[in-house]
Amino acid sequence: ATHLVWLRNDLRLNDNSALWAACRRREDRVLALFIATPQQWRQHDMAPRQAEYIWRSLQLLQQGLAEKGIALHYHQCDDFSAAVSYLQQFCRERHVDALFYNYQYEFNERERDAAVERLLPQQGVTVQGFDDSVLLPPGSVRTGEGKMYKVFTPFSKACLKRLRGDLPPCLPAPEARAHVTADQPAPLAPFDYPRQSIDEQRFTPGEAAALQRLRAFCRQRVADYPARRDYPADEATSGLSVCLAVGTLSPRQCLHRLLREQPHALEEGAGGVWLNELIWRDFYRHLLVAFPALCKNQPFMAWARQLAWQQRADHFTAWCEGKTGYPIVDAAMRQMNATGWMHNRLRMIAASFLVKDLQIDWRRGERYFMSVLIDGDLAANNGGWQWAASTGTDAVPYFRIFNPTTQGARFDPQGTFIRRWLPELAAVPDSDIHDPHGWAKKNRQRLDYPSPIVEHKAAREQTLAIFEAARKAS
Ligand code: FAD
Repeated sequence: ATHLVWLRNDLRLNDNSALWAACRRREDRVLALFIATPQQWRQHDMAPRQAEYIWRSLQLLQQGLAEKGIALHYHQCDDFSAAVSYLQQFCRERHVDALFYNYQYEFNERERDAAVERLLPQQGVTVQGFDDSVLLPPGSVRTGEGKMYKVFTPFSKACLKRLRGDLPPCLPAPEARAHVTADQPAPLAPFDYPRQSIDEQRFTPGEAAALQRLRAFCRQRVADYPARRDYPADEATSGLSVCLAVGTLSPRQCLHRLLREQPHALEEGAGGVWLNELIWRDFYRHLLVAFPALCKNQPFMAWARQLAWQQRADHFTAWCEGKTGYPIVDAAMRQMNATGWMHNRLRMIAASFLVKDLQIDWRRGERYFMSVLIDGDLAANNGGWQWAASTGTDAVPYFRIFNPTTQGARFDPQGTFIRRWLPELAAVPDSDIHDPHGWAKKNRQRLDYPSPIVEHKAAREQTLAIFEAARKAS
């Protein structure tokens, strides 16, 4: 029989459920296919750095698959509907009997897969989808009433219980095929999509590098993670988000490797804090499936539709460019603009600043993040933004508003991180780094750095009024 694996956000050989299933019998002929959909990617605001990471990882995967006797074919078309038509044609031309793929949980992706599951069987192709980019399948972790959890802590507890009872396996790479295919795949042509160069040390493409980073992190740094993860100057987090977003690594690989180094992680012992982050990742994916409106620009809370946002184009531009006059916010935005990645604590601070200090619609920030982040992922990004904007499930209460100055002082006390990204503050002493203009005034210095574009205390009062009005109106 001829089996086809349709690769999407799962660019790896190891622990790839669809690939493993397609290769179950050694004598079957197995083909792989990747379909680039630039127009769809544009609509989804995929960052050019993520496109570069995908492109490079795909090349490595083509070599890896070839060593297993599997040809990776490549095609480019506009969007998902063209991809489905091409898939039908491909299956017809190559006499494919069975199609295998790993689910994606975003709305358009699910519609596409529903079309595939309707159309392909009509031409005699069996279709099998797998829950692969998660620890536990969406819909399988439910409250006593059979509903999706809306609060993270009980969800996390339920996940841990399930994982303790029945650890999902971590599959090896498939064995080489018995008969190497004579099928010559087309060489990978570059996508018709902008690509931007990436820091090779930090975001090395391909699954071998992802595994190496995972191993090193679990061996050397996961134990210190709870104490150091909130300090952006330290490189204390795993840096694996791009690997998980694009699928050069699976969350089960993370879990198994973690348990090897920290055997009590599932009992909330050492390693438990990092595992909790992986469970946040699952939580947001499960939410997308339970509440598809999250993919359609809708706030989770209905009252949040009434929020009267400010339309200040100049403020939005200052935020995007890292020129708000608040050093921690600006350093964060410049880190993301320069590298495609931002530390989690800073994502919370920068998002909160846009929504609660500038009163700009969180969806504009969500989009901007997506267009720049190498690890852009709809579920996590939307979840993070709705958390910061207080419009989501289990979000920060709307009246709890981060003070960007004290957040900076708390998580970057000496300004080590700020100095890395704001060279114009080099002359400012550590003690004043979070209030550089206060220092400049006192010492009659001139700074080539913007004055704060809003005053936090006044902005906070306005934000509270906007949120209270929206809640009353609904
Ligand atoms: P680690 O701390 O090492 O965590 C391990 C893994 O767990 C991460 O790689 C990631 O896959 C997952 N994870 C960690 N924290 C979260 C979280 N809060 N929610 C969901 N998953 C999490 N993460 C993305 O992968 N893509 C995004 O587009 C994204 N956008 C965000 C936007 C905002 C406003 C906020 C507040 C958070 C966002 N996050 C996003 C979550 C988080 O900031 C990143 O996953 C994390 O900073 C990545 O760094 P790391 O790999 O070193 O994480």
